[in-house]
Amino acid sequence: MTSAVLTRSQELFDRARAVVPGGVNSPVRAFGAVGGTPLFMSSASGAWLTDADGRRYLDLICSWGPMILGHGHPAVAEAVREAAARGTSFGTPTEGEVLLAEEITRRIAPVERVRLVSSGTEATMSAVRLARGFTGRRKVIKFAGCYHGHVDALLAQAGSGVATLGLPDSPGVTGAAAEDTIVLPYNDLAAVEAAFAAAGGEIAAVITEAAPGNMGVVPPAPGFNAGLASLCTRHGALLISDEVMTGFRAARAGHWELDGAREGWRPDLLTFGKVMGGGFPAAAFGGRADVMAQLAPEGPVYQAGTLSGNPVATAAGLATLRACTPDVYTHLGRAADTVAGLVSDALSAQGVAHRVQRAGTLFSVFFTDRQVTDYASAKATETFRYRPFFHALLDSGVYLPPSPFESWFVSAAHDDQAFSHLAAALPFAARAAAAATAQEGTDA
Ligand code: PLP
Repeated sequence: MTSAVLTRSQELFDRARAVVPGGVNSPVRAFGAVGGTPLFMSSASGAWLTDADGRRYLDLICSWGPMILGHGHPAVAEAVREAAARGTSFGTPTEGEVLLAEEITRRIAPVERVRLVSSGTEATMSAVRLARGFTGRRKVIKFAGCYHGHVDALLAQAGSGVATLGLPDSPGVTGAAAEDTIVLPYNDLAAVEAAFAAAGGEIAAVITEAAPGNMGVVPPAPGFNAGLASLCTRHGALLISDEVMTGFRAARAGHWELDGAREGWRPDLLTFGKVMGGGFPAAAFGGRADVMAQLAPEGPVYQAGTLSGNPVATAAGLATLRACTPDVYTHLGRAADTVAGLVSDALSAQGVAHRVQRAGTLFSVFFTDRQVTDYASAKATETFRYRPFFHALLDSGVYLPPSPFESWFVSAAHDDQAFSHLAAALPFAARAAAAATAQEGTDA
């Protein structure tokens, strides 16, 4: 396996484990679901990562979404250099925050006003608090398999690392923090209707990923998000559309452009992160002006952050969004088509049952012959095939998400050279997936 030759990564991982729990600062990075030693990366350029041993990999995670332009994009690098030279943090308002807020509100019509924060977790946590403050209600509906960051109230049956590690709900989350969370199956509008019928007057918000990408990509069924919007309106609850992953990526105005903008409905609040930080810690939540007006200092709902609107992060985010032209989205769509097509062809050639699921430019591969519509069907796929598939690609210089429950990401820098490299690596990986058995593929 790869780890035997990756001496520098192995050495760093051993040292890391002595001082950092599990050796990593975010669980999925530890390769728990695929086994082996996590690679320590030392640099990146365009669509390529270089690890601490000097090996190059085609990057299909793009830092879990943010690097939409590829690594080291000249306009972003220049904006960062220029901002850092002027000062890295002032603890005062800055022009860059106004420019970024204007860019976000210009792009996404339902975002009338926006507050900048430092992580997607902070964005969803703050949006839920605001929804509770605005409505004066306690309960929140979330969907199994959706991940909204590690907010206590939203960890129940969460996707991403919680799904990857097969964890039950996290110890440390008290009953009190979780008792107002109602967890429902994704894509099941009847279940949402029933929950509103039972407790409508107590429900502050429904929070949903605009298109889930944290149990693999599971697009909303036609009319599902619209149905949520209309149920929320009818019952006086707020719809929080979590676009931390899809925002500025699934399409120019996020996933909302693909359904709400066409169907004529709006979420009340939206959350963002990843792309809008350009690779730095920046995130945001925003939406209806009357709801956002409840935030301190204008209103009574408290929310704050020492580094919120940090000038360097804001400059990186603004430069990234400005460089995300319509051409970039056309390219991302084509790159996703190409990668998905190559993977599908290679797996089909080996007779491996699979489905590539898409939500705009987001996609992931499930080992199954059935459509995956919710967390239960995602967990029922042949995840044991992922581990050998992942390692075969890694050995050939392709870096996939180290989990079958994560989205794959491409960038504006994924070009023909990247696709040829992937195409050359895939037959070996497809054979490894075909040969996998449930027993040998169980998690490390
Ligand atoms: N919401 C969604 C949909 C996400 O995908 C993520 C992270 O992957 C988050 C929230 C949390 O964001 P962060 O990791 O920046 O806290």
